Amino acid sequence: MTMTKGLQIVSVSKYYNEGSERITALDRVSLTVEPGEFVAVVGPSGSGKSTLLAIAGALLKASEGEVIINRKRLFNLSDKQLPDIRLREVGFILQASNLVPYLNVLDQLLIVKRMAGKVRAEDKAFAVKLLEELGLAAKMKCYPEELSGGEKQRTAIARALVNDPSIILTDEPTASLDTKRAHKVVSLIAREVKNRNKAAVMVTHDERLLAYCDKVYRIEDGKLSLAELASTH
Ligand code: ADP
Repeated sequence: MTMTKGLQIVSVSKYYNEGSERITALDRVSLTVEPGEFVAVVGPSGSGKSTLLAIAGALLKASEGEVIINRKRLFNLSDKQLPDIRLREVGFILQASNLVPYLNVLDQLLIVKRMAGKVRAEDKAFAVKLLEELGLAAKMKCYPEELSGGEKQRTAIARALVNDPSIILTDEPTASLDTKRAHKVVSLIAREVKNRNKAAVMVTHDERLLAYCDKVYRIEDGKLSLAELASTH
């Protein structure tokens, strides 16, 4: 197995124990996402999507198999090292409702940098650049309650990118948005993934957004398979 940058999930299974019952949430799932690649994972409720994303982001340990993030095998890392990998290598685009209510847009980004170390002048400059790229230049001093749903979600995208992680993970990033805003948000994620060479995985129910992705995988009963793209770019 050659280790490249990006995300490699190799024959990963995940079991949960519910009393005496063993639930197979993931069944020998393999997935490689290269830098600059944007993949979607679709599947019904309970099929294993959240579990897959949590394992890809080093939030949860696989029961079997290998997870490799930016050439680092998670299996080899201690519980002490995992949070550091999460902070430096993984950007989660969370639901907009996860913004901190008492921080303005720029500070939403700088607090992430502060958690990872000291905020230097170039870190602040990078945060400002990201916000400009995402059309938020005029909103940097605004608080979440002053933003539209789309602006909040774009702030969440910028926040996920601020540590320059190698992988980007997102679960239903357009859940609370109307069609127009949903398209804008996903097209911006796709653009950042390409321009900044991130390996990105998006879990979604929304078939309309799949045209922005390079590959679409389906998951059912914990089994992942590549799906044909119905729509064209
Ligand atoms: P999805 O995100 O597609 O809805 P999940 O990854 O949340 O699917 O769940 C996959 C399966 O694992 C489901 O059967 C779910 O009930 C089960 N599951 C998820 N988390 C836990 C847990 N912490 N304990 C026990 N079972 C769980």
